[in-house]
Amino acid sequence: MTPTPLPQTPPPIRVASTVALTEAEGPGERFAIWTQGCTLACPDCCNPHLWGAQGGEDWTAQALLERVLAARARRPSLEGVTLIGGEPFEQDAALAPLAAGLRRAGLTVMAFTGYWLEDLQARRSPLLPHVDLLVDGPYERERYTSARRFIGSTNQRLHFLSDAYRPDDPRFAEPNTAELRYDGEGEVQVVGFPFPSVRDAFGPKRKRAHR
Ligand code: SF4
Repeated sequence: MTPTPLPQTPPPIRVASTVALTEAEGPGERFAIWTQGCTLACPDCCNPHLWGAQGGEDWTAQALLERVLAARARRPSLEGVTLIGGEPFEQDAALAPLAAGLRRAGLTVMAFTGYWLEDLQARRSPLLPHVDLLVDGPYERERYTSARRFIGSTNQRLHFLSDAYRPDDPRFAEPNTAELRYDGEGEVQVVGFPFPSVRDAFGPKRKRAHR
């Protein structure tokens, strides 16, 4: 299917990496996008290699949209996209047209952020209206938890910003998971919840932001 062209030329999106299919970064089967760059510097962040704005590579929103839709064509059960980082809301003007295009194509959008929802609302983030599920708040290592799905520390919250999901969906009560991915060339990558044992075992090759 040829995607509907995005209505304008948004700024490029700085992308650290993508995974076309994961079940560990949100409900159901999802395409995950790790954005490059984060200025929040939470102590014990498990993705400090994603802090710098210079890493990764630039993608147009249109090219990313087409990549996601190609993944869905291969896997029709793909239900959404997760934006994670890095800090997606430090690129919200670039990501907003992508998120809008994803939702027009029938996919849901989940985002992880170290900012608080109220701050994003106050500054009228252009991405926020296109997000169905939001995990907000900085990671606080002293408040680490693995007991709540998709939450890394107890100060963080899961917000249902649209009717796409309901809090009583049993998937939000399931245990957190991590996926190990072997690239065939000697590197193991971890996608999903940053369990300490997994972090210790795989160090900087993990991908998941610490929240
Ligand atoms: S935990 Fe998330 S918000 Fe905090 S420094 Fe790491 S990438 Fe940034």
